[in-house]
Amino acid sequence: VDKVEAVVYSSYGAPSQVLKWHSYGLPALTRDTVHVKFLASPINPADVNQIQGAYPIKPPFVALGNEDNFSTDGGDNDKVVKAAVGGNEGVAEVIAVGDAVSGLKKGDRVIMAKTGHGTWRTYAAGPPEDFQVVPNATSVSLIQQATISVNPCTAYRMLKDFIPPQQGDYVIQNGANSAVGQAVIQIAKAWGLKTINVVRNRPDIEELRQELTALGATHVITDDQLGSFETKSLVKSWVGKNRLLLGLNCVGGKSATEMARYLSANGKLVTYGAMARAPLTLPASMLIFKNISFYGFWVSKWAETHSKEERSEMLADLVQLMAAKQLKEPRWTAVEWNEKAVKEAVENGIQGYGKGKQIVLF
Ligand code: NDP
Repeated sequence: VDKVEAVVYSSYGAPSQVLKWHSYGLPALTRDTVHVKFLASPINPADVNQIQGAYPIKPPFVALGNEDNFSTDGGDNDKVVKAAVGGNEGVAEVIAVGDAVSGLKKGDRVIMAKTGHGTWRTYAAGPPEDFQVVPNATSVSLIQQATISVNPCTAYRMLKDFIPPQQGDYVIQNGANSAVGQAVIQIAKAWGLKTINVVRNRPDIEELRQELTALGATHVITDDQLGSFETKSLVKSWVGKNRLLLGLNCVGGKSATEMARYLSANGKLVTYGAMARAPLTLPASMLIFKNISFYGFWVSKWAETHSKEERSEMLADLVQLMAAKQLKEPRWTAVEWNEKAVKEAVENGIQGYGKGKQIVLF
């Protein structure tokens, strides 16, 4: 391999304007580095925010490869000088290993150790610390390998770290049909937890209800019913003497406030998304009389602040659930590896993910 193809940006803005197709020489293998070949990389909402400059992690713009080697992308004035490679999630295969490298070997399937590595490229070179092996990766599909590190890990940590799970516990979540929400439903079921799943009402709600039930959702309710007396007594009858201490908030705004009212005393509401783009209002009674507490979760920060061993343990658990068909592939569509298709897909990423997760196949 001598050439890398990548989708890069060297300023922030609308993806269609700032993204560039760029090829450069793959840095030569040294004693302390490895070469990896990317196999599949998704386009996530955060990737788009990052290109727009609206994400807290901003990969530095660096000279990629040998400066003499830069592609001109439509004229000399258009040269990419220093840039960041787009994308944060993906799976790659180790294809060459320096003599002094331990812990990685040829053929290993790896994900990125940290957010911001740049996964929309054909090859990468770097120290082994940049990468992390997915244990038993090939026992699950390529799509599962490529999408394991963001959504399933988010669901796993939120179900485990805030309220130590006990069999029969209930969890309530909004945005339940999101990719994270679907992982929550399945992991919860595998761990013996029950889920109350809030989704936005829609004309084909029965179809969605069936889809989520097939994944293992215990109950599905719509956000417009959340405040009603009937729903309150229904949920009460479902939960009975079990605990409902954990709420997972993908949406924010009214949906989150209404959902938090269902938590038992001393419950915790964990916010991980803000799809409604409306702030969360907290009634004083929830704080004073019920002692509900409010947290945020960010999987990038988790990976940064925990050891590779801890992450590996989680990855192994998730792979096991996937291999046992307890955690399925997200809905996805393939994105071809060419400039037009990738740019279009990233633009689509701003408009919504109707057809499922878009995944670049190299
Ligand atoms: P998906 O694209 O799979 O799902 C998006 C969800 O948001 C759907 O359930 C959709 O429901 C809902 N939604 C969209 N617009 C609105 C709205 N205006 N009001 C209410 N609900 C809405 O996304 P992901 O699962 O990949 O991500 C979900 C969120 O979680 C994103 O904000 C993402 O950035 C965040 N996230 C955060 C992580 C963290 O570490 N904090 C990690 C992973 C994801 P509908 O069908 O009704 O449109």
